[in-house]
Amino acid sequence: MVSYKELGLVNTREMFAKAVAGGYAIPAFNFNNMEQLQAIIQASAETKSPVILQVSKGARNYANQTLLRYMAEGAVEYAKELGWEHPQIVLHLDHGDSFELCKSCVDMGFSSVMIDASSKPYEENIALTKKVVEYAHQFDVTVEAELGVLAGVEDEVSAEESHYTKPEEVIDFATRTGCDSLAISIGTSHGAYKFTPEQCTRDPKTGRLVPPPLAFNVLHEIEKKLPGFPIVLHGSSSVPQEYVDIINEHGGKLPDAVGIPEEQLREASKSAVCKINIDSDSRLAMTAAIRKVFDEKPGEFDPRKYLGPARDEMKKLYMHKIVNVLGSDGKAL
Ligand SMILES: [Zn+2]
Repeated sequence: MVSYKELGLVNTREMFAKAVAGGYAIPAFNFNNMEQLQAIIQASAETKSPVILQVSKGARNYANQTLLRYMAEGAVEYAKELGWEHPQIVLHLDHGDSFELCKSCVDMGFSSVMIDASSKPYEENIALTKKVVEYAHQFDVTVEAELGVLAGVEDEVSAEESHYTKPEEVIDFATRTGCDSLAISIGTSHGAYKFTPEQCTRDPKTGRLVPPPLAFNVLHEIEKKLPGFPIVLHGSSSVPQEYVDIINEHGGKLPDAVGIPEEQLREASKSAVCKINIDSDSRLAMTAAIRKVFDEKPGEFDPRKYLGPARDEMKKLYMHKIVNVLGSDGKAL
């Protein structure tokens, strides 16, 4: 058993309270490898933005939980080395699907866990979430829960249809589970193909797909029911078209990939939404940079020569999200 406090990490409680009050959102970036982690920490340190390092069940299987834990511990030290005096870094389990998985992460130094029982019937979601909360809170680890179903595919989480969160359920759910934050469904979606072409309209000028707008009415209803309660948006990559273009121009094939427009995320950040999850965008940045090197320099075989540019591109993306979309820069000096 190791406490996240020994690793220099923090939980989300104070971070979220400040974000809700200050009208900004904390970035939650997923990571699986060293270059992603370096890019996240460099971007956060340079902008002095609090940050959530997210590990999905898939990442945990891919990279090994022990290694990820030490990487997060190393990230705190690295941030200090970069001149960030008081790094505010959370290590968070994304989409925990069982009590055992959440417990294992709490015991291994995670400072925050998500229990996602949103696909289960309402009462089962409450019972499982409550069980995780009771365990995690003993160690001052914060818990994110989910109500409503997001569409899309992300690692092992997938659903064909989305169901918006029902505002009439949120008070009962938050009260009975004791969760610290709530992921809701208002039209965001996992992956790089968030919407089918049939769900979108097409911009006559560019020919690009324009996704349906987020259900801000549902968000505002939820805010009214739970004033000041931290709300989380999953599936909030924007799928930048310049990356999709670079990928497609250099041998890739991502037709009609489409995400959530950044203006809508900016607007959401100003509300009780205090954590926005971004995963696909960094995958796209990384893939675009690597494809470009492979295509333009076919003789290159030193991984640093393509992972280096990929890291730079991800850092640029993370800084852009922090400063221009979430507004979290300068909030952790
Ligand atoms: Zn998610």
